[in-house]
Amino acid sequence: MKGSRRGWLVAGLAVACLALTLSATLLCSGCRPGLGLVGVGWPGGQDAPQGDGPTSGEGSGGPGGAGGSPGSQTPVPPAATPSERGVCPLCGLETELDAVLHRPLAVVVDNSTGARPQSGLGDACVVYELPVEGGITRFLAFFLHADAATIGPVRSLRPYMLDLVMPLGAVVAHVGGSPATLAELAAERPTAMSIDELNKPQAFWRSSERRSPYNCFTSTSLQRSASRSSGYEGTRLTRTTPAAFNFAPPGEKPALPQGQSVGGFTLHYTSAYRVTYDYDSSSGRWLRYVGGAAHKDAATGRQLGATTVVVLFVPTRVIAGDPEGRLEMDLDGGGQAWVFCAGQSFRVRWGKSGRLNPITFQDGQGNPLTLPAGPVWVLVAPTGTPLDTR
Ligand SMILES: [Zn+2]
Repeated sequence: MKGSRRGWLVAGLAVACLALTLSATLLCSGCRPGLGLVGVGWPGGQDAPQGDGPTSGEGSGGPGGAGGSPGSQTPVPPAATPSERGVCPLCGLETELDAVLHRPLAVVVDNSTGARPQSGLGDACVVYELPVEGGITRFLAFFLHADAATIGPVRSLRPYMLDLVMPLGAVVAHVGGSPATLAELAAERPTAMSIDELNKPQAFWRSSERRSPYNCFTSTSLQRSASRSSGYEGTRLTRTTPAAFNFAPPGEKPALPQGQSVGGFTLHYTSAYRVTYDYDSSSGRWLRYVGGAAHKDAATGRQLGATTVVVLFVPTRVIAGDPEGRLEMDLDGGGQAWVFCAGQSFRVRWGKSGRLNPITFQDGQGNPLTLPAGPVWVLVAPTGTPLDTR
């Protein structure tokens, strides 16, 4: 067993060198790392389906596409041992390698007042907050290196969420969606991968302690099972998970441009959704408040917070003729953003080219911005939404 393991590691290193040459995905400051040990690809695993199940569109030009196909001869890596360390590509934290040898999971979580407090957001690597129709916001929470036993309430998907899910090769958990969303999801398959409660109820449960529609919950383990049975995970994929953002190596401070010292800020989504963050210098985290109170995770009782919070201003329109007033958010392009990390704020420009590419940030000199390792929350706001700093 040791011999075969060493053989795989050698093969893995060879693939890593190839990956370095082809896509420069090795961990470094100022570039986009994939997994800490690159070239390991997706795990084949003993439960890997042998057929050509749905794939993430490898080789289709997506980010981190080091090449290969589900049927290529890449050695199947054994499960990593607890002693092997890796870097989570979604949040940059050092973790057990085995914990990041999965597809990322994304879960659509409600933020309407009846849905609070939510569960599981405190375990997410990246959380996007996005407006939806009716002046409310919804979360898109990404999980990879940490498990969450309860996540929710889970709600329906919106088309612009696919722009954030697909660059990471993530599988998104949701409860249905608008007709336009479901049509778009169908058109994007098999690159788009989803677990919908309406056709996979076994991957969710309905809590008797909450009333509908705020009672649908899931967990990372249920979603991984559903992901395997759907053929999303376990196929012989050679692409590593691209990094969600540029991260400094774990434990190292990024070389940040000149910023402004900031103690906190408030983003004025509509009144019940106005969100405030205060910087806690002792922990280096931005602590979150909503509706004037600490926003806590129901599963742990801990106040939600993040190492980095980004406010992303995005051109937004109400879809003409939509009876519900649903929104269209233009995430293909760019605009202004504010990044809050290390007790400072940085005015940057965000950019995104096409649905399959991730969001990037550039400082005033056009240099890519590198973030400290740690959870990231991105508050996506219609252009013109007031933002106060103090
Ligand atoms: Zn992570």
